[in-house]
Amino acid sequence: MQQISSNLKMQDSARESRRRGQSIALVPTMGFLHEGHLELMRKAREKADLVVVSIFVNPIQFGPNEDLDRYPRDLEGDLAKCRSVGVDIVFTPTPEEVYPEGFQTVVTVTEITKFLCGASRPNHFQGVTTVVSKLFNLTLPDYALFGEKDFQQLAVIRRMVADLHFPIEIIGVPIVRETDGLAMSSRNAYLPPKERAEAPEIYKALKNAGTLFRKGLDDATELCRTVSEQINNSIESDCEIEYIEIHDTNNLTQIKNKISTPATILIAVHLGKTRLIDNLQL
Ligand code: AMP
Repeated sequence: MQQISSNLKMQDSARESRRRGQSIALVPTMGFLHEGHLELMRKAREKADLVVVSIFVNPIQFGPNEDLDRYPRDLEGDLAKCRSVGVDIVFTPTPEEVYPEGFQTVVTVTEITKFLCGASRPNHFQGVTTVVSKLFNLTLPDYALFGEKDFQQLAVIRRMVADLHFPIEIIGVPIVRETDGLAMSSRNAYLPPKERAEAPEIYKALKNAGTLFRKGLDDATELCRTVSEQINNSIESDCEIEYIEIHDTNNLTQIKNKISTPATILIAVHLGKTRLIDNLQL
């Protein structure tokens, strides 16, 4: 396994692999890797000859009062995990490499970034689409893999790839969970023991919504109200629900009344100081 930190070396290496006829799969991450990330890498390994994992905590996708400075990092541990699943190249550029002096070009998906996470994090998705475009140009992948945990992000990336004609197949990977149901996330490391013990209630409430839906409760507002009540009743710690909404799984439009198309329930919760997101296809 190779570690590359320079843009030029990364691009040269990708070009050379393509010249040799190898296919390339990219897994973009911000590091502090867990089983969710590793699952993306395993899927990438099945798909392509060369697996590239990027580890870059992207400053422009964090808001001014967010956790950029305290975002967890463990490069040595991450490299060992990448090696264990057969990654070929770990790309670890510095912020200066990605955003050199004079940088002033961004990529914006205009509509589906306005609601859900985009409502409270106004520049977040622009930061994501900008850095992912750069990573695409630096690693020249045939495939790029993203987790369904960040369901809106996956939809935004798909939109961008279609709109800008990137010749890349986007592969979504189902959410990997802890044994108690909590969706794996680098940010789970922030949770103190009591909040960590209560966090699985979020997924339990989503699963309950799924059960109610299958039993015939098909009013979106009513289902969301049930989830909200269940979470507020089962979590004692400071817990604020940022949103619970149901959206069309394919085009991400919000459903407020009767659910008649494939739908996904999405949630963001502030548990203590930690912002957690999760979702479930109904
Ligand atoms: P991050 O390092 O948080 O930016 O995540 C990098 C990639 O891993 C994104 O495509 C995420 O959606 C994906 N990912 C993070 N957590 C999970 C999980 N629990 N299950 C599946 N994919 C995940």
